[in-house]
Amino acid sequence: MSEFIDGRMLIGGELVESRTSNWLESVNPANEEVIGRVPAAGPEDVNAAVEAAAGAFDAWAGLSMTERATALRGYAQRLKEEGKRILDIEVRDTGNTIAKLRHDVASAVRGIEYFAGLGTELKGETIPASADALHYSVRQPYGVVGRIVPFNHPILFAAKFGAPLMAGNCVVIKPSEQSPLSAGVLAEIVRETLPPGVVNIVTGDGAGAGDPLVRHPLVKRISFIGSVPTGLAIQRAAAEVAVKHVSLELGGKNPMIVFPDADPDQVAASAVAGMNFAWMGQSCGSMSRILLPDSLYDAVLERVVAKAEAIVQGDPASEESGAGPMNSRAQYEKALGYIQAGIEDGARLVAGGTRPEGPEFERGYWIRPTVFADVTRDMRIFREEIFGPVMSLIRYRDVDEAMELANDVEYGLTASIWTNDLKQAMRAARDVRAGYVWVNGVSRHFLGTGFGGFKNSGTGREECFDEMLSYTETKTVHVHV
Ligand code: NAD
Repeated sequence: MSEFIDGRMLIGGELVESRTSNWLESVNPANEEVIGRVPAAGPEDVNAAVEAAAGAFDAWAGLSMTERATALRGYAQRLKEEGKRILDIEVRDTGNTIAKLRHDVASAVRGIEYFAGLGTELKGETIPASADALHYSVRQPYGVVGRIVPFNHPILFAAKFGAPLMAGNCVVIKPSEQSPLSAGVLAEIVRETLPPGVVNIVTGDGAGAGDPLVRHPLVKRISFIGSVPTGLAIQRAAAEVAVKHVSLELGGKNPMIVFPDADPDQVAASAVAGMNFAWMGQSCGSMSRILLPDSLYDAVLERVVAKAEAIVQGDPASEESGAGPMNSRAQYEKALGYIQAGIEDGARLVAGGTRPEGPEFERGYWIRPTVFADVTRDMRIFREEIFGPVMSLIRYRDVDEAMELANDVEYGLTASIWTNDLKQAMRAARDVRAGYVWVNGVSRHFLGTGFGGFKNSGTGREECFDEMLSYTETKTVHVHV
């Protein structure tokens, strides 16, 4: 039996409980045991956190870039040292498999180091607008930034605040209530390595903690990662109280567009890898719609089914596991609902769809990796983000239809194109309405290249220099000489 995790929030450099005296319990999704708890923040806690951030702002923004970078590198180093402890908590709290989850802390550390090196690139300009004045611009931080993040990569999203901090802001982070336990370790590391109030962490749900953070008058810049409905609610709430800069990294219903010259073995392997079954499909960039020409359809279908069925599902803490449980009861029920919808709408269930067999799967949120064939555009599983282990295979007649199907959803986050025909690849990359496109690849993120969505998948780009710029406002100055 592992130790019960009793989390604390971080407000103004202090590890604290909530003023509401309420707690949120967290459950191991593999067996439904309660493994820990975090304070359930309410508006008073959020106010205190925002005020702490506002109070720390002048001193933090007053540091030189070198001083801020040094502080951030010290924080990143401690995060790396605590990687194993965080990993053990996250595997139990999320159900994501250890072999893949291991990369999340490393990825957060790389992101912090990347932004720590970019501070002096936050340059303004001189503009030759007139002969009798010096016209120049400077970039200044917003002040307090609110960051609200989802459950699927808890530590990665909560910990990577390098961009707003290097730009001189202080932040208040609201992790997801669904897998919040690593936030307690993060709170300890931040407390040890950064000045009080520069980073504050409030745990709680959307209504109690997220909404008050969005509406707080001192928070002009909000960065949100999560679902489209919550993104829309945040835009509405922000607009009700003030003019705010809201960036949104939202969901996807991502197409893999396979052209007739592609190799069916490679396509099947990449489709299954790109569906992120190790995350049970709970990854925004997952390839959930595989668009196939008649000539490859049966060959890819057969291979995808064989690969999905071969995935070893089990204890997420085992290095052997290729898939664990879903993150929560809510996600589990949502995915089962979509599997039912796929069947009702006439798609052909060719793999999974049920709970795996065996005594270890009697409790917990388990579903076998699931594949539907003969999916058409009118079906709910074609159009809606499931955020679960459900892949759809779709047949197309010609290139025009493939592109039309690829773009015929409200989302536009990622896309993957498979062909060795350069012209075909470049045209498809141009025409697909998505913000992050791989040709003959899936899933990989490359630091320094902007990640983000078209259409309802979001606004703004992260993991690149533009992200850091987005945490500044431009001031133009005219000096009359
Ligand atoms: P969610 O939208 O339900 O919740 C995300 C966060 O918003 C949580 O911290 C939640 O407490 C908070 N929240 C909920 N209601 C709120 C409100 N009214 N005001 C303020 N905050 C509120 O998303 P989720 O289920 O945690 O995550 C899954 C979604 O995130 C999927 O749609 C997925 O595609 C998306 N996602 C996108 C990216 C990306 O980079 N584009 C990355 C990961 C996940």
